[in-house]
Amino acid sequence: MEKEIEIEDYDIEIIMMEQYEHLNIILENSYCTTCKKTSTITNYKSYLNNLNDIILRGFCLKCGGPVNRYIETGENLQSAEVAVHIKNVLQISRKKKK
Ligand SMILES: [Zn+2]
Repeated sequence: MEKEIEIEDYDIEIIMMEQYEHLNIILENSYCTTCKKTSTITNYKSYLNNLNDIILRGFCLKCGGPVNRYIETGENLQSAEVAVHIKNVLQISRKKKK
């Protein structure tokens, strides 16, 4: 089982760094398996996986079907470090809430 942790848009921004300005292009170029073509992902939730990559889980703007978008950030050492930091902070803050 992959361990994923939910993140917010501002987390994505600091993980992606200069890549963040391309986020809209990434969102508009998500593959929908229902439409069988490139579509726009909408109403998505963002997660970090155990490889420190970002996963967006949302819906196709055209047909409403489920669309997942994978953003490889774990390959970038600096991004991976930020991602690990965010995961640690989120895990600590969630434990406190319980
Ligand atoms: Zn679709």
